[in-house]
Amino acid sequence: MIQTKKTLLGMAALFSLYSPLNHAHTNSFNDLRMPSTMIAKVKFKNYKSGMWKLNQLHLDVAGIDIKNKSADVVINEAEYRKLEEMGFDVEMTMSKSLMRGPDAQYKNPQEIEQILNDYHNRYPDLSELKVVGKSLQGRSIWAIKISSGKAEKKPAVLFNGMHHAREVMGPEIALDIIETLLSNYGKDSKITHWVDANDIWVLPMFNVDGNNIVWTNDSMWRKNARGNYGVDINRNYPFAWGSCNGSSGYKGAQDYRGPSPASEPETQVMMNLVKEIRPVFDISYHSYSELVIYPLGCDGQRAKNADVMEPIGKEMGKRIGYTPGTAWETLYSVDGGDIDWMYAEYQVLPYVIEVNSGSDGFQPDYSKREPTVILNRKAWQYVLDRMDGPGIHGAVENNGKAVTEFSIAVQRKNGDAYVDYMTYKGKPNGTYDLILNPGTYRLNISGPGIENTSREVVLNQTPLTVNFSK
Ligand SMILES: [Zn+2]
Repeated sequence: MIQTKKTLLGMAALFSLYSPLNHAHTNSFNDLRMPSTMIAKVKFKNYKSGMWKLNQLHLDVAGIDIKNKSADVVINEAEYRKLEEMGFDVEMTMSKSLMRGPDAQYKNPQEIEQILNDYHNRYPDLSELKVVGKSLQGRSIWAIKISSGKAEKKPAVLFNGMHHAREVMGPEIALDIIETLLSNYGKDSKITHWVDANDIWVLPMFNVDGNNIVWTNDSMWRKNARGNYGVDINRNYPFAWGSCNGSSGYKGAQDYRGPSPASEPETQVMMNLVKEIRPVFDISYHSYSELVIYPLGCDGQRAKNADVMEPIGKEMGKRIGYTPGTAWETLYSVDGGDIDWMYAEYQVLPYVIEVNSGSDGFQPDYSKREPTVILNRKAWQYVLDRMDGPGIHGAVENNGKAVTEFSIAVQRKNGDAYVDYMTYKGKPNGTYDLILNPGTYRLNISGPGIENTSREVVLNQTPLTVNFSK
């Protein structure tokens, strides 16, 4: 889709709404009369400090290349000149007129709905379709649950694509996960086991409104369809919202966090889904930069269970050749992102995988689809494999009934002492799933109406089942 004139003028209007760069100089307003947009490469002498300086401007950072110490930005000519004036080494790599928009073989919201329905019709016993909610403009957001139905109360794993509308490879990876699991069930013993043992939820296209804009109006659209500016859904989650300069308060900025935490219907849809299914793992697919990102997003912060979270991310990175790290280690601070919220609220082990490289961009030729999805199988399959690694799983019952509200304070034995490790919220169906490293732990269960109970557990390399019942 080639950008229309209408879009270009629309973008000029947007830039006039914000741009901290342009407020200082009166002549820059005139520059905004020339709204052409380009992709430019900013090269850094020092990646970390250069990236931090660039991030303060809240420009549209499309992707990064850590190895070559550079970032791609989507900007207009006025912004280009400002970057030059500020001393950045900046070079235009593609003009707007050369942007083709996505290959028509990438999917739009209607196609996603059709494909998911087709899968369900072909594999009715292995799949369940669900509209998990509605977008701002009333479009259905679809997910599919892949599970053989052999056991109840299975642990869940979530894979989701496209928080950001222009990142068209995310849904392709999600569709490949669905295809790989469904078509190999009963043929491949590992895949059969994963589908028997877990509820595997796949939500291929989250930002359906934004994607509609990509196909009809602006191929570089990132946010949702709020107003004429959009909210960055992945800066709108309520945990640490707007807390560390990891998002913008300007409506026109590409990382606009919205007027209040979880203000957007899409954000609420994801929050409700996660609350309901309580995934053990999540992977949110984005593009591009070849990164595996794990919580937390604000500078210097790490997850309490970083000893579990980070090695899993690093292992995925190793398997697919992507750079692992927190957002502040690999990019810049991010606040209000989905993974931080999932971790903080429900102790999910969540990852963002930024697929594809800078030479691929947001919308590579469709021939890039096959190698990308094949490569990425090694990462999502590792997560499913890890479900069978060290961890403690079980049910909590009181008088034979599932306890629907409880928490587990986990302590880890360090020498002779028990040290507080982390507190997990129990699942509303009365079960829990803790992914841990081998060690000796004490689980302290508490909740309204139940007697506090503790149990010491020695965990080795395989999962343990520890049920609590009174
Ligand atoms: Zn993204």
